[in-house]
Amino acid sequence: METYGSPLYVYSRTDIENNWREFDQAFDTHPHLICYAVKANSNLAVLNVLSKIGSGFDIVSIGELERVLFAGASASRCVFSGVAKTKAEIKRALEVGIFCFNVESMAEMNRIEQVAKDMGIQAPISLRVNPNVDAKTHPYISTGLKENKFGVDIDAAVPIYQMAHDSAYLTVKGLACHIGSQLIEVSPFLDALDKVLELVDKLNKINIHIAHLDLGGGVGIKYDNEQTIDINAYIVSILDKVGDLKIILEPGRAVVGNAGVFVTKVEFLKQNSGKSFAIIDGAMNDLLRPVFYQAYHQVLPVNENAKGTDAHWDLVGPICETSDFLAKNRKLCLSEGDYLALMSAGAYGFSMSSNYNSRPRVAEVMVSGNQHTLVRERESIQDLFNKEYMIND
Ligand SMILES: *Cc1c(COP(=O)(O)O)cnc(C)c1O
Repeated sequence: METYGSPLYVYSRTDIENNWREFDQAFDTHPHLICYAVKANSNLAVLNVLSKIGSGFDIVSIGELERVLFAGASASRCVFSGVAKTKAEIKRALEVGIFCFNVESMAEMNRIEQVAKDMGIQAPISLRVNPNVDAKTHPYISTGLKENKFGVDIDAAVPIYQMAHDSAYLTVKGLACHIGSQLIEVSPFLDALDKVLELVDKLNKINIHIAHLDLGGGVGIKYDNEQTIDINAYIVSILDKVGDLKIILEPGRAVVGNAGVFVTKVEFLKQNSGKSFAIIDGAMNDLLRPVFYQAYHQVLPVNENAKGTDAHWDLVGPICETSDFLAKNRKLCLSEGDYLALMSAGAYGFSMSSNYNSRPRVAEVMVSGNQHTLVRERESIQDLFNKEYMIND
């Protein structure tokens, strides 16, 4: 903190690598590609570290594509997901040789075909189907039910595949699904897999052959004391079902979530009508998950021998919103000036942060063994408005 200031995100390179390798190694010699979902944490150092150990990437925008390329990855290991790809995004992805588009609708399929036609090339595609299974996770991060906006109803997939198969500008590569995030049970994944395999059979019968299955991300992590998925067992049960089919997985949270912490400082302690508030320098713009999804992050004192006032504290930020809290009712012993670590903050932490209340975004640091490196500078006040203009009159 003396070097980098507060608040701060800190990531462990070793944890990121080990988490990714757990997925990769469980497949052993079975054809597979682990495409890290960039939206979970898109820092260049994170992407670079993963690229160096052979990761592919799941991207959802041109910005993520350019980041991944800048970080040293090859487009031939990238899948392009996302609900509304623009013409410019499709064109750029084709120029750099994307491995596959995960297409979300017939309309998007037509757009990709048109762009490929204009370029005189063939676009590699998978259709993202919605298998209509309940991921049993928070409704805001569940994506595989009929009523969600994602993908194509699995029962409507065949004619779309037929159209792609008949097109001179599309190449059918695979079949994709992604049913939600922070799943803590394997059964919804396996239910989805069964449905997707039925579709693969149907397609085989009409002579459309799928080269890979992309089963998305969504493996949950331990935030509190929840039961989570045994990654090796999950992958073994996939392999039991899929024969020789190449498998793609797109884990995001499971790679970076537990590899990062958010460090914040206690500014003031305050008691209001029986409630104890610790006012911290971190806020909802820095770590949105608690207010966005009622998410829980464990809170640990950075200095284990901290002395101070024992109470059940609400950790609240300086932002002018009642909902600006990072944790509630935590038994801690606190004094002003203490540093606290919010655990499991490596995924959907910095990547969802904003400048709300004109707060510069915080610094990010990566540790590796006993080395620590700044991987994103804290934004300056000037950074906050250097793209703005006043009206001249
Ligand atoms: C968000 C997302 C992921 C990653 O989800 P995690 O829960 O972080 O593993 C993977 N694939 C798609 C299509 C996504 O939208």
